[in-house]
Amino acid sequence: MAYRLSCPCTELLYGRTEEEMVEVAAAHARDVHSREYTAAEIMFMAISVPDSFLPDDLRGNPSSDPHERTSP
Ligand SMILES: [Zn+2]
Repeated sequence: MAYRLSCPCTELLYGRTEEEMVEVAAAHARDVHSREYTAAEIMFMAISVPDSFLPDDLRGNPSSDPHERTSP
């Protein structure tokens, strides 16, 4: 199960796992809004969605770090 968070700035944020959702949303809040959110606050705002809702660049790519692994 993946997660989606609809930010008040209309940005849609996605995470494949709870950890990734928290990471992505915390980074967005920090970079774009200069705000800090706790994991609990983020997960309160996030909704769970089927994996098929994820954008293509997140689906079928088990590594979240593009520098970690290069696909053929
Ligand atoms: Zn935002």
